Amino acid sequence: MHQSFNPTVRTLMGPGPSDVNPRILVAMSKPTIGHLDPEFIRLMDEIKAMLQATFQTKNELTIPVSAPGSAGMETCFVNLVEPGDKVIVCQNGVFGGRMADNVKRFGGEVVLVEDEWGRAVDPQKLEDALTQHPDTKIVAFVHAETSTGVQSNAAALCALARARDCLTIVDCVTSLGGTEVNLDAWGADAAYSGTQKCLSCAPGLSPISLSERAVSAIKNRTTPVASWFLDLNLVMGYWGEGQKRAYHHTAPVNALYGLHEALVILEQETLAVSWERHQRNHRALKAGLEAMGLSFIVPEDERLPQLNAVTIPEGVDEAQVRQQLLQQYNLEIGAGLGALAGKVWRIGLMGYASNPKNVLLCANALEAVLSQYNAPIHKGLATGAIERAYG
Ligand SMILES: *Cc1c(COP(=O)(O)O)cnc(C)c1O
Repeated sequence: MHQSFNPTVRTLMGPGPSDVNPRILVAMSKPTIGHLDPEFIRLMDEIKAMLQATFQTKNELTIPVSAPGSAGMETCFVNLVEPGDKVIVCQNGVFGGRMADNVKRFGGEVVLVEDEWGRAVDPQKLEDALTQHPDTKIVAFVHAETSTGVQSNAAALCALARARDCLTIVDCVTSLGGTEVNLDAWGADAAYSGTQKCLSCAPGLSPISLSERAVSAIKNRTTPVASWFLDLNLVMGYWGEGQKRAYHHTAPVNALYGLHEALVILEQETLAVSWERHQRNHRALKAGLEAMGLSFIVPEDERLPQLNAVTIPEGVDEAQVRQQLLQQYNLEIGAGLGALAGKVWRIGLMGYASNPKNVLLCANALEAVLSQYNAPIHKGLATGAIERAYG
C-alpha cells in the first residue's frame, strides 16, 4: 500500500519555485466548482483585472495560460511568429536561448544579438542589429535573466524596437512582482510571466499580456497558429468578455484560486512596497555574503534583487554544499546554469521568501556548511553585516 505524500517543509531560495504564501495554499484547497460556473467567471474577471494592474497595462488580452512560464513563452512565439518572419533575439543567458529555439521551431529566422552572461542586454547592439536587418518583425528579450541574476533595460529596448515598427516579446517571468514591470510605459507588445517566482504562488500558470497591435497581428496571420492548445484566437473565446464563454479546455480551477489569492496579497501590499521589500532584503543578503567573502558576478546597476548570483569559494564542491544545506537546514539554493554551471550559486529572494528571516537563515547556514568544509571564508561577520544593513 502506498501512503499519502507528506513533503518536508523546505525554505525555497533557489531560482523557483519560491516559498508559497500559506494563504495561497489555503485558497487552493477550497472546493472545486465548474469552470463555466458564473462564480468562476467572476473569479476569472477579477484575475484579469488584477493581472492588468500587476503588469501595469490596459491590454484587454491579459490572462493566465493554463501551464507554467515556458508555456507563456511558447504562447507568445507560436502566435506572433509566422514562417519566414525575421526575429531579433537578444541573448544574455539561458532563457534567451530558449526564445531563439522557439522562433526556429515556428519557422522564423533568428538574428541573435549576444551579450556576455552576467551582463544586461546592450541597447546599442540591438540598435545596430535593427539597422542591419530593417525587415525585422519582432524583437524578443528577457527582462530578468534568472540564469544570471541580471535585469535589462526593458523601456530602452522596447523603444528601439517600436521606433522601427517591430513587435516586442518580453520575458517577465522572474521580474513580475519583484521589480517594476510597466508594459504600457515600455510600449511592450507581448509579455509573459510565471506564478512560481515573485508571485509566491504554486508553479503551473503563466500570466500573459498582449497589446492591441499584437492581437491584430495574430488575427491577421496568413497561416494558422501551429499549436491548437495555445492558439490565442481560440483561447480568447473562453477568457473573453461577458458571460458567453465557449469551452476550450478545462481551466485549472484550484490553481486559479491560488493565483487570485496571490494577486490579492500583492494588491494589499502594493507593487511599490513589494519592489522595495525585494531591494531591502537583497541589500541585507549582499552585506552578509560579502562580509563572508563571497562576491556578486553582476555589476551593481544591472543586478536583480530577487536573484543573487554569487561566487563559490575556492576548492569547494558546490553540489555537496547545496546538498548539506538541504539536508541539515531544509534550505534550497540554486546551482549555476549553462555557461555558469559550477561557477556560481543562485540565491533567490522571491516573493513571500524575500524576508529578513530567510536572509539570516541563508547566510548563517551557508557559513556553517562552508566552515565544515574548511572553505576560505571570513567567519562571524555575516550576521552583524546583515543587522547593520537593515539599520
Ligand atoms: C522560470 C523561468 C522561465 C520558465 O518558467 P517555468 O515556470 O519554469 O516554465 C522562463 N523564463 C525565465 C526568465 C524564468 O526564470
